[in-house]
Amino acid sequence: MSQDFIPAAKPIIGAEERAAVDAVMATGMLAQGKQVADFETEFSQVLLDGRASVAVNSGTSGLHLGLLASGVGPGDEVIVPSFTFAATGNSVALTGATPVFADIELDYYTLDVTHVESLITDKTKGIMPVHLYGHPFAAEAFAAVCGKHGIDLYEDAAQAHGAAVNGQKVGTFGKFGMFSLYPTKNMTSGEGGMVSTSDPEVERKLRLLRNQGMDKQYENELVGFNNRMTDLHAAIGRVQLTKVDGWTKQRQDNAAFLTANLEGVGTPKVAAGAEHVYHQYTIRVPEGRDELHERLRSGYNIGSGVYYPVPNHRLPSFNRTEDLPNTETAAKEVLSLPVHPSLTQDDLERIVTAVNTLVKAGA
Ligand SMILES: *Cc1c(COP(=O)(O)O)cnc(C)c1O
Repeated sequence: MSQDFIPAAKPIIGAEERAAVDAVMATGMLAQGKQVADFETEFSQVLLDGRASVAVNSGTSGLHLGLLASGVGPGDEVIVPSFTFAATGNSVALTGATPVFADIELDYYTLDVTHVESLITDKTKGIMPVHLYGHPFAAEAFAAVCGKHGIDLYEDAAQAHGAAVNGQKVGTFGKFGMFSLYPTKNMTSGEGGMVSTSDPEVERKLRLLRNQGMDKQYENELVGFNNRMTDLHAAIGRVQLTKVDGWTKQRQDNAAFLTANLEGVGTPKVAAGAEHVYHQYTIRVPEGRDELHERLRSGYNIGSGVYYPVPNHRLPSFNRTEDLPNTETAAKEVLSLPVHPSLTQDDLERIVTAVNTLVKAGA
């Protein structure tokens, strides 16, 4: 245990981010202003092939406002995965609509389009799949199903900055897409979220909803929130945006090394045409997942994570009884190993040796 701890995730904050925050502080203008406007423009250029973006104070409020701006409300159903972070289903429930939980494909851990289609009713307003772990969901297949049934596609891209399907960036397929800027995501603003849309009416409503329903001060057009991003957070995000492509490449290189060298575990699969940005590097361990997780830490000083141990539909907050067999299997078997861009070659080799040794001993 003399070796340094390798954390499961590690935000990279450097001198440039600190200087950018300091420069905003020096202006005395801290709340939403020019930094936020510039961050939106640059985010659209770097990650969205020019599609519009609207900054908010968290990914969760991005989903919530995106759904409200798309007209989702009481009486509607929105189909979501259960195998995701709780914010996905929470944001649907917060609009007054009902989240309907569908099963995933075990190859990619993303929603199964066939199961989703079987759950569409005349109340279904839309489908909100998640680009989980940085692997894009089958965006073209989902867009086709939505088109066929006359419903909307919304993208939870919280974990997938820069991911793409056949060269098309995630966040450009749905009525809106949401990117989280929480510290452990592929880039951060401290806390924050970015909502993408090519629908001018959705964009206008997003801008109103984040700011008390106002475009012009004291001329409130609708009932809204204070979900604005601050200029301090935007300044951090703007610096991170200049680095995210390089970090993604590093994540992909780290993942390639792990996949080439791990033995006896199920390594991540990548669908044809998919660009995976490895927010997580998630293996499947059919027997002894929890022991592996524990022994990596106690014996090798290596962090790992179980995302997510309890399917959302069975959380006390939802307490549903749907039968989602692939979701249950994934919740029991997945383990995410460190893949973040600050890993050294030595770290990667330690991870491979530790996992291979433990798996072999257990077999
Ligand atoms: C992180 C995350 C969110 C919520 O983002 P916050 O910025 O933490 O509010 C939503 N969905 C998924 C899949 C996430 O991973």
